[in-house]
Amino acid sequence: MSEYELHRSHRGDFHWDKVPVLAYKQEGSAPFKKVTRQILFEDASLDCQLRYFEVAAGGHTTLERHSHVHAVMVVRGSGSCLVGAQVHALNTHDLIKVPPLTWHQFRAPAEHPLGFLCMVNSARDRPQLPSSADLVSLREVALVADFIRV
Ligand code: MN
Repeated sequence: MSEYELHRSHRGDFHWDKVPVLAYKQEGSAPFKKVTRQILFEDASLDCQLRYFEVAAGGHTTLERHSHVHAVMVVRGSGSCLVGAQVHALNTHDLIKVPPLTWHQFRAPAEHPLGFLCMVNSARDRPQLPSSADLVSLREVALVADFIRV
């Protein structure tokens, strides 16, 4: 976003003026289902980005971890997420922090989308995907085994 573009109107349904709806990730680069990404704010002087992700009904983000932190606020619908070894039910306006190197995944229920804002550092490490050994460890907790999608 140029520094001269101070205001972008919300066009309804979580779409904004001149904010393109992007692929969540490059197709085939990681497992995910029915997720889109929009970059709302990106500014070198802030050193962070604010994105809006939307997981369509029945979809999920990638199960991943990385050194950078996520600060998340749910703004549409409800759903659930894994952070570490815990599954959290998410309602609109709930906050979730994902600490460094902590496995995480977001899921929308079958009935409706889950939309959330996610703040991250502009310069950040690439997400790591779980190895087979990581999956074995994750699945030692029954709730986690039931939750994850890979
Ligand atoms: Mn992540």
